[in-house]
Amino acid sequence: MTTTETEEHKALRAAVAALGKRHGRSFDREALWSEAAKLGYLGVNLPEQYGGGGGGISELSIVLEELGAAGCPLLMMVVSPAICGTVIARFGTETQKQEWLPALADGTRTMAFGITEPDAGSNSHRITTTARRDPETGDWLLTGRKVFISGVDIADATLIVGRTEDSRTGRLKPCLFIVPRDAEGFHRRQIDMELQAAEKQFELTLDDVRLPADALVGDEDAGLLQLFAGLNPERIMTAAFAIGMGRYALAQAITYARDRTVWNTPIGAHQAIAHPLAQAHIDLELARLMMQKAAHLYDAGDDVGAGEAANMAKYAAGEACVKAVDQAVHTLGGNGLTREFGLASLITAARVARIAPVSREMILNYVSHQTLGLPKSY
Ligand SMILES: Cc1cc2nc3c(=O)[nH]c(=O)nc-3n(C[C@H](O)[C@H](O)[C@H](O)COP(=O)(O)OP(=O)(O)OC[C@H]3O[C@@H](n4cnc5c(N)ncnc54)[C@H](O)[C@@H]3O)c2cc1C
Repeated sequence: MTTTETEEHKALRAAVAALGKRHGRSFDREALWSEAAKLGYLGVNLPEQYGGGGGGISELSIVLEELGAAGCPLLMMVVSPAICGTVIARFGTETQKQEWLPALADGTRTMAFGITEPDAGSNSHRITTTARRDPETGDWLLTGRKVFISGVDIADATLIVGRTEDSRTGRLKPCLFIVPRDAEGFHRRQIDMELQAAEKQFELTLDDVRLPADALVGDEDAGLLQLFAGLNPERIMTAAFAIGMGRYALAQAITYARDRTVWNTPIGAHQAIAHPLAQAHIDLELARLMMQKAAHLYDAGDDVGAGEAANMAKYAAGEACVKAVDQAVHTLGGNGLTREFGLASLITAARVARIAPVSREMILNYVSHQTLGLPKSY
């Protein structure tokens, strides 16, 4: 890995930035999704033989970061091409690959991802959504509940993390299932969120949802490995989402601070305003370096190394984003809270990067235990 970007990456960044600029903050999600897909950006990480760009999470994270920096982040990129596309490309059957990858790449189909459960939360070992086999037909029957699942209404299917019972030990093993949006017994209720975003969050109920045998993605016995293959890209992409948003907020603040004059110099000349903006910029740059490292390790096939780096990148980017947005709002004084300048709503949006898909505290726990070897409190 080099710490400077390749010419290809720079060119991709510039092209996506130009697309983002054309759509801007008041973007139409669907229009941007389909244009990004047509230009090859949504499937940039997917294999070429299935209509993708043949790149990796490094390239996909550039796309999301630049759209975010232009004020038009596509949250479903974290889920559809990054988690679901990766898991299907790495572990799906040939039929699943043919069915989903070209459509995820060209944007004609989208897939949501559901792991979080009301009674498990951060402790995903506690999930209880259970899949059992119908001994007569070989179908799967899926029962359980999920919460905060993004974009289920606009996704053609949701990749649901469930568990099957190991017939030898009786222990539950994680498994991934493709559940079509309109499957019988698959109910969704929109959660009333304070977020101003194009994507909505849902509580899901799976009530004996009958799925064909081939709804299972990958191997029944390698569930955890397959799951983590999707969760590392999710963390890297959440970092990209956060860095993009932080950059967008910071850019608004800088423009404002250069012009706004209430004494005899623009407010940006006061170090009390300039220094926190400079710190926010440094923090975002540092977070990007860690995100690039995580993406590089992941694309090189080092799942274990990528796991640690992806967690650190998500942590650093989430914190940098929250701080950048907070400082940007403050820089605009009263205007920071007006709808016209549109920054106040980012205060809520930035918090998403701190809590999802894995919270700041759970990352600190991971680093404490895995990296530093400290004992667990739970
Ligand atoms: C906008 C949004 C979109 C989302 N989209 C999706 C999606 O598409 N798919 C999906 O599956 N999920 C999604 N999520 C869910 C998200 O991943 C969870 O909210 C997150 O994992 C935290 O779980 P929780 O909300 O149950 O919090 P909890 O687990 O209840 O945690 C609450 C607080 O306690 C802290 N805490 C918990 N355990 C510990 C501990 N051991 N040590 C220290 N502190 C601890 C946490 O850090 C947190 O601050 C989304 C969430 C949001 C807000």
